[in-house]
Amino acid sequence: MTPKQRRLLARIVVALAIFAAVFAASSLGAFDAIAPQPYALYLEFALFLVPYLIAGYDVLARAARNIGHGQVFDENFLMSIATIGAFALVLFPDSDPHMAEGAAVMLFYQVGELFQDYAVNRSRKSIAEMMDIAPEVANVRLADGSLEETDPEDVEVGSVVVVKPGERVPLDGIVVEGASQLDTAALTGESAPRFVEQGSDVVSGCVNLTGMIAMRTTKPYEDSTVARIHELVENAAEKKARTENFITRFARYYTPIVVVVALALAVLPPAALGLPWADWIERGLTFLVVSCPCALVISVPLSFFGGIGGASKCGVLVKGSNYLEALSKADTVVFDKTGTLTCGSFDVVAVHAESGVAPERLVSLAAHAEAYSDHPIALSVKAAHTGAIDPKLIADTQEMSGHGVRARVGEEIVLVGNDKLMEGEGVSWHECELAGTILHVAVDGRYIGHIVIADVVKPDAKEAIARLHDLGVSKTVMLTGDRAEVARGVAEELGIDEYRAQLLPQDKVARVEELLAAEAGTGGALAFVGDGINDAPVLMRADIGIAMGALGSDAAIEAADVVLMDDSPSKIATAIGIARKTMRIVWQNIVFALAVKLVILVLAALGIANMWLAVFGDVGVAVLAILNAMRAMSVKRR
Ligand code: ADP
Ligand code: MG
Repeated sequence: MTPKQRRLLARIVVALAIFAAVFAASSLGAFDAIAPQPYALYLEFALFLVPYLIAGYDVLARAARNIGHGQVFDENFLMSIATIGAFALVLFPDSDPHMAEGAAVMLFYQVGELFQDYAVNRSRKSIAEMMDIAPEVANVRLADGSLEETDPEDVEVGSVVVVKPGERVPLDGIVVEGASQLDTAALTGESAPRFVEQGSDVVSGCVNLTGMIAMRTTKPYEDSTVARIHELVENAAEKKARTENFITRFARYYTPIVVVVALALAVLPPAALGLPWADWIERGLTFLVVSCPCALVISVPLSFFGGIGGASKCGVLVKGSNYLEALSKADTVVFDKTGTLTCGSFDVVAVHAESGVAPERLVSLAAHAEAYSDHPIALSVKAAHTGAIDPKLIADTQEMSGHGVRARVGEEIVLVGNDKLMEGEGVSWHECELAGTILHVAVDGRYIGHIVIADVVKPDAKEAIARLHDLGVSKTVMLTGDRAEVARGVAEELGIDEYRAQLLPQDKVARVEELLAAEAGTGGALAFVGDGINDAPVLMRADIGIAMGALGSDAAIEAADVVLMDDSPSKIATAIGIARKTMRIVWQNIVFALAVKLVILVLAALGIANMWLAVFGDVGVAVLAILNAMRAMSVKRR
C-alpha cells in the first residue's frame, strides 16, 4: 500500500467506527432519550456529519474544484450532490431523514476508490517489476585493471565493463573476455538462457547467470536497449484506445443526462401531480447515486493496462492500447521475408567468378562495397570474406534499398546487388542455375561474377503461420525483394497463402495499400511484420506495424506499433491472442457495468431501489469489473 492509500484506509476505519456508534445509538433510540424533538434530530444530524466529512471531505473538495474549472460533470459531482441531498432531506419534516444513508454512501464510495487505486497501482507495479530491467551500477575496468562502480549513465562508449554472475548487464556491448549464459527472460519472455562468448553481442537488461564476462560498451546508456524499452513502456500507457475514448465521450453525454433526469424525477411529479416532495427528491437522489459509472471508467483502462503488461511479459511490447484493439481485429498478416520469416543470416553457397577473376577478389570487393551496410546480406558477405576490410579504400558508398550497393573501392566503382541493379546500370549479367539469392558483382561497369547465398527459415516460422490460421486470420502474405524462386520455396514450405517477389520497398507499400483497400469495410485490420531494415514505410502504412528483433535495430522500434523483443514470428499469434482476450474483457466489463446500471436506474426511478441497494450495486459492479480486468494481465508464456 502506498502512504496515500494507507491514509485513506485510516480515514475509512475511523469514519466507519464513528458511523457504527452513531448508527447504533440512533437505532436504540438514544437521541430521543436525551433530547426532545427536533433537537434529537439535529444532534443525530450533526453526529452523522462527522463520519461523512472524515470519509468524504476530499470528494467534496474535488467536486468544488472541478466546478471552478468548468468541468462540472464527474463522479465527484455525482457523489457530492447525492450525499448532500440525502442529508438535506432533514429539511423535509414529513419525510424520513436519510443522514445514515448519506454518510454510508460516501463511506462505501471511498472503499471502492481505495480498492480501485490499489488495483491500478498493483498492475502498474507489476508491469514495472516485469520491466525492472534497469541496472544499478556498471563495474568499469580502469587502465590499471581495477574496477570502479559507475552509474551506467556515466559510462563512456568503448569502456570495458565487467559483469559478474548474478549481475545485470548494464549497457549494450560486445563480449571481449569470458563466456557465460545470459537470462534474457525480462526482455524476450524467453526462458532458455542464451550462451555468449568472446565476440557475442550482449544487450543491457539481461542477467548474467554463470560466468564472469568483460564487455566493451557500444552505446551510451540512453541508446541502450534498457533505456529504450523503458521509454516505450512508459509511453504506452498514454496512447488511448478507441474503446477508451468511447468512455470519455460517453461520460460527457451521460452525466448531464443523468443529472437532468434526476432533477426531473425530483421536481416534476410533486410539482405537477402534487405527489409528496420528500419521496420524489429521494428517488432523484437515489437515481444519482446509482448512475455513477465508476466501474466503467476505472476498469476499461485497467484492462488495457493489464493486456499491455501481459504482452510485455511475453516479450511483446505494444506501444499503446489502441494498437491492442487493432491487433485483436487482425485479419490479414503480411510478412517481410528476409530477417522476419528467415533468419537473415545467409550462407555463401557458391562463388561464381567470371574467367580471369579470382574468387577471393570477387568476395573481397563485395565485402568492401558492403562495408557500411547493415543489411543481412551485407553482413553475410562480410562474414564470408576472410581477409581484413580496409576502410581507407572505401568511398562514396551508396545503398539502394531493394537493389544493392554501390561504392568506390580503391580506384574502382563496385556494384553489388540483384538483377534490377545490374539492369539499371546497364551491366550484362549471367543467370545462375543454383537456387538462392544471387548477388551480382560488377567493377567499373564490367561483370565479374556472382555470389550465391542462401537463407534458412526460422525454426518457428511454420508454427507461426499455422497458429495464425488457427486464430482465424484469413490471409497470410509474404512480400520480398528477393527472387521469385526463393520466395515460392519459402511460401510453400511455410504454408503462406500468397507471396509477391522482386518488390522494391515502395512496391511493398503499394501492395500493402491494395490489401488495405481490400480489407476496408470488413472491420478487419492488416498487420505488417518486418525486421525494420528498409521496411519502415510499410510498417507505418499498415494498420499495425510489427517489428521483429528489437534487440538490435533502432529503426524498427521507431516505426513500429508493436515490437517483438525476440526474433520469433510465432509471437505474433501470442500477441493477437492476448489482444483478443483483453478486448473480450473490456467488452464484458462495458456490457456488464451498463446492464446492471440500467436495471438499478430503472428500479430507482420506479422507487423500488433504495439508496442502500444503489450503493451496494455500484461498489459490487466496480469490484467485479476490476477483478475481471486483472485477468488481462495473466498470460501463458508461449
Ligand atoms: P526482403 O524483402 O526479402 O527483406 P530487401 O527488400 O531487403 O529484401 O532486399 C531485396 C533484394 O535487394 C535482396 O534480395 C537483394 O537482392 C537486394 N539487396 C538489398 N540490399 C542489398 C545489399 N546491401 N547488398 C546486396 N543486395 C542487396
Ligand atoms: Mg527485409
